[in-house]
This record gives sequence, structure tokens and C-alpha cells, in this order.
Amino acid sequence: MSGVLDVVVIGGGQAGLAAGYFLRRTPLSFLILDDGEAPGGAWRHAWDSLTLFSPAEWSSLPGWPMPVPQGGGYPPRDAVVRYLAAYEARYALPLLRPVRVGAVRRGAGHLLVEGADGRSWRSRAVLSATGNWGSPWIPDMPGRAVYRGRQVHSAHYRRPEDFTGQAVLVVGGGNSGAQILAEVSKVAPTTWVTEREPVFLPDDVDGRVLFERATERWQAEREGRAPAEPRGGLGDIVMVPPVREARARGVLSHSLRPFASLEADGAVWADGSRVAAGAIIWCTGFRPALGHLAPLGLPGADGRAQVGPEGRATAEPRLWLLGYGDWTGSASATLAGITRAARGAVAALSEALARDAEPPG
Ligand code: FAD
Repeated sequence: MSGVLDVVVIGGGQAGLAAGYFLRRTPLSFLILDDGEAPGGAWRHAWDSLTLFSPAEWSSLPGWPMPVPQGGGYPPRDAVVRYLAAYEARYALPLLRPVRVGAVRRGAGHLLVEGADGRSWRSRAVLSATGNWGSPWIPDMPGRAVYRGRQVHSAHYRRPEDFTGQAVLVVGGGNSGAQILAEVSKVAPTTWVTEREPVFLPDDVDGRVLFERATERWQAEREGRAPAEPRGGLGDIVMVPPVREARARGVLSHSLRPFASLEADGAVWADGSRVAAGAIIWCTGFRPALGHLAPLGLPGADGRAQVGPEGRATAEPRLWLLGYGDWTGSASATLAGITRAARGAVAALSEALARDAEPPG
């Protein structure tokens, strides 16, 4: 164990890197711990064809704009991974990888950050930026154990060819569900199952517009007024080119509400109707990856930690949470939105540490 650091950042995805950028501009000592084998955070694990739903100019971390891909268009997954790798090198961020943090515990005057490999670090503050990808969520559906087909969460889905010729249930009405359905329906018969009727955004609304709307909501909240922009959330379906192409084939026009249970070879609805399926792709989202905070009594039953302004944990004033979703800061789980959240969290954390260091009196 080393001396006491000012800040340990857990997670070296876009949120951890943005925090690193702002921490570099303070006198604080800090270290970023990331369990990935290589840079890129969750983007390394996304499916092969994934592209951003915003142009590069609207997907940048603080300080250095994301390079615009040759020929324009929305950047593909690999371009985001390259950008994040170049970003951490450019700012020479102090990163240790791979280090899996197993636990954060309270110590005397510090937090103790324990690596799963036995190493540990003492820190005056901890910034948790572990994202959601590590915690895929599947609803607890009766019969899941008896179903004999293949089940894959979108976190582990790679390419449509893996499902060629199988009857596939695609479960989930968000962007992952729509995009995966769009490409799997080219090689396999598909049935789309969504909680409610899917919400499609107008064709000219992309991540850029969604971010502007999120900003307006954030601004309105701070000023105590009703937001002026129309609703339309980051979860609604963006009509990226493959999804538009699927719409033209009629694939998006029919979806079913959730089935009641699974049986060996498919799904059964409450009215007794059945759909046979050789595979299910669960596009049912994620929970925050917060297992390392269990010794601090977090997260709560909803899988989240209660936070105050700038993502400071209510249960532990030396802990900040960054990224994850709107609950830690508006649009903080997007490339465009993380700058504002990271700047706020680092400013709040620096101020708190400076106050702590002041002599009493
Ligand atoms: P992550 O990228 O998940 O990074 C967290 C890092 O922490 C990872 O490297 C992880 O391995 C590591 N980690 C986790 N637990 C531990 C631990 N215990 N110890 C050490 N390290 C740990 N956003 C956009 O802006 N534009 C888009 O077009 C867009 N498209 C998306 C499409 C899909 C299908 C999805 C799911 C998300 C999309 N997003 C998009 C959202 C968002 O940008 C990502 O989810 C983003 O990866 C969140 O970044 P993060 O740094 O918070 O988390």
C-alpha cells in the first residue's frame, strides 16, 4: 500500500478519462484504475456494426474534439475506441490497467480502494466511474431456466450472422433493440417484443438534438421553470440509417407486448398464443456496475446510489459517482454530456478536499 492519494478514479472509460482531464488541471494527486485489458471502456465490447447516433463534432470529450471520420457520417465503434485510446495518451493520464477494484471501504481519514489482485490504495476521495456495461440486466421471466434455445444479452451480441436462419425473439424497444432487430431481421425471421409501443424519433432528430433537449431540461431544472423543448428522451429510437432501412422493409411496424413466460422452445403470451424461437436477444438494458461499493452500504434496492449535487454520494461524502445515467447528471452517460458532469464533480470534489485541508478555526 502506498501513501494517501487525493483521488482514486475507478473506471477508465469516457467518464473516468473526462474526470482525469479536469483533475490534471488541479494540484491534486490522482490515479485512474480500470479493469479493461485495453483502452476504450464499454465501446470495446459493443457489437461490430455499432455507430454513434451523433456526428463526431457532438461526441467529444473535454479539450480535444473527436476526429471526423473520412467521408463524414456518424463514427463507428472502432473510431470511438481509437479516440479514447489517443485521448488518454494525449493527456498522459495516470492509468493503471488492468486493475479490477473489488471493494471500497471506509478507513481512518481515508477510503481504502482494494484491487481484486490484492493491491490497495488509500485515498482522500473516490470518484466511481464504472459505467453500466458490466451489469447487463434481464427481466426475471418465468421459464427462463427451461428454455432450451440460445439467450444473449445485447452486451454480448456481436453480429447478425451468428443467428442466420434461427427464429429470433428480439426483446427491448430502445435503440439497442431497434438496431439489433434491423440487422438480424436480414438473416433470420424475427419477432420484436417491447414493453410498450416503440417511440420513433423524427428522421432529423439525432443525438445532437437529444443532447440539446437534455441541456434545456438541465437548464430549466436549475432555473426552476418548465423546459421549453419538446419531450424526446435519450431512450427513444433514433432513426440511424440501418433502422430507416429496416422501416422500409416493414420490420418495425409490428411489435408484441411482453410474453408471460418461456417454455422449452419459445414464448407464451397471457392469451395462450405462442411463438417458437431458437434464440432470444435481450436488449433490456443495464444496471449500474456498483458491486465494489457494497462495503459502503451501496447501492440501494434500485441498483443505484443516492447522490446529491454533482454526483456526491449521500451515504459517503468522500465518494462521487460519475456517468451511469441522468441520475448522476443530465446526459452524463453520453460522450457529449460527460464534460459538464465531470467538470462539476471535479470542482465539487476539489473544493471539498481544500476545505478539509484548511486548518481549523
Ligand atoms: P464505460 O464505458 O462502461 O467505462 C467504465 C470502465 O470502468 C470500463 O472500462 C470498465 O471495464 C471499468 N470498470 C467497471 N467496473 C470496474 C471495477 N470494479 N474496477 C475497475 N474498473 C471497472 N453515447 C453517446 O454519446 N453516443 C452514442 O451514439 C451512444 N450509443 C450507445 C449505444 C449503445 C448500444 C449503448 C449501450 C450506449 C451508447 N451510448 C452512446 C452511451 C454511452 O456513451 C456509453 O454507455 C459509455 O460507454 C458510458 O461511459 P462510462 O465511462 O460511464 O462507462
